[in-house]
Amino acid sequence: MPLVPWWFNFYSFERFDMETILLLTAVEADGKINKAGLEAATAAKNLASALGGAKLIAGLFGEKASSAAGSLAGAGFEKALAVEDSALAQPRYATDSAACEALVKASGASIVIAPAVSRLQRVIAGVAQRTGGKVDTHLTELNAEGGSPLITRWFYRQRMFAQIKRTQRPWFLTVDPGTCPAHSGSGSLSAEKIAFTPPATQTKVTGLKSPSSGAQTIRPDADLLFVAGAGWCKKQADGQLHVPEAEKTILAFLDKTKASLGGSKSVVDQTGEGAVLSFMGHLNQIGQTGSTPRHPKGLATCCHGEEPHVVGWRFITERRAVNLNANCGWAQGKADVLYVADAFKVMAKVNELL
Ligand SMILES: Cc1cc2nc3c(=O)[nH]c(=O)nc-3n(C[C@H](O)[C@H](O)[C@H](O)COP(=O)(O)OP(=O)(O)OC[C@H]3O[C@@H](n4cnc5c(N)ncnc54)[C@H](O)[C@@H]3O)c2cc1C
Repeated sequence: MPLVPWWFNFYSFERFDMETILLLTAVEADGKINKAGLEAATAAKNLASALGGAKLIAGLFGEKASSAAGSLAGAGFEKALAVEDSALAQPRYATDSAACEALVKASGASIVIAPAVSRLQRVIAGVAQRTGGKVDTHLTELNAEGGSPLITRWFYRQRMFAQIKRTQRPWFLTVDPGTCPAHSGSGSLSAEKIAFTPPATQTKVTGLKSPSSGAQTIRPDADLLFVAGAGWCKKQADGQLHVPEAEKTILAFLDKTKASLGGSKSVVDQTGEGAVLSFMGHLNQIGQTGSTPRHPKGLATCCHGEEPHVVGWRFITERRAVNLNANCGWAQGKADVLYVADAFKVMAKVNELL
């Protein structure tokens, strides 16, 4: 004689099998979720539907965490949980990780999705460790296969990708910015505050320091990647160097367009020696041994377009280049448009038009 009715087991099995997805993101000082967080919300929503229906919960932390819940309305979140405390006004490992841990535990999530931004990347492994989970970072696609998540991550400087499944839960997934559209919804979603006592901490943020030049030139959210190559620091047709003019032209363009500045390895390696662009540093390097940013458009100037550089353009959708050499690498099928021209003149004219 069974001790429970037949439907009880069936119901329990169904509930056990259903994933609970927690979107874990920080709320900025202005009470808003940043673009990467809203993109992760889309990733969470898409995964829930690919799984044929999963429970979706939003987990927000910050000084004004609860005020941001409304911006997630319309994405299918059942509820939003918020950890709100003045200690979370500044990113800090001890306080952020404790807040995330509280959210994961309160949600009972089996899958945690967060944006792969520095604030979350710094704490996610620690939170996974505290909650007995596993973590995979910098993901570009979250799909489902056979009712389980199937995630994609690129390796070896974006030359090959792996698709990964795991049975262990909770499973923490951070999603690379630029891989999903940002969620923009309407409706209402209110936040339920979670009790939180911040851990004691001795770290205080006293201010921010910009890179050496004082100008912020790396802008991951920009629509355009502007690459400056070593040609800007080479002798030009008159046999002279024109580095101050190069600097002025590039900075004026960046100022007008708010494009993100990238550099070739040759130009960034010159830093500290001879004729250099003072605002160019190793963080600007694009390529095999540099970064692989995501921008809708890219414009390369005075850059030869060799394979180790262009491999960093994998996620640049529309590519243009300006080079004096009609046989440069960009002409070998690596750019949509190559202007065979003097970049000094082209960019001066572009600035004038802008
Ligand atoms: C293991 C390895 C890893 C590497 N990783 C990277 C990497 O991550 N990123 C990277 O960038 N490189 C990388 N490289 C180096 C790469 O192969 C190239 O050497 C480098 O990209 C060249 O930089 P460049 O095009 O700026 O310079 P150059 O090859 O010197 O080209 C300068 C270009 O400027 C043009 N030019 C000059 N004046 C003008 C003008 N007035 N108007 C228009 N055009 C002009 C010239 O025609 C020329 O094409 C790597 C190499 C190796 C071996």
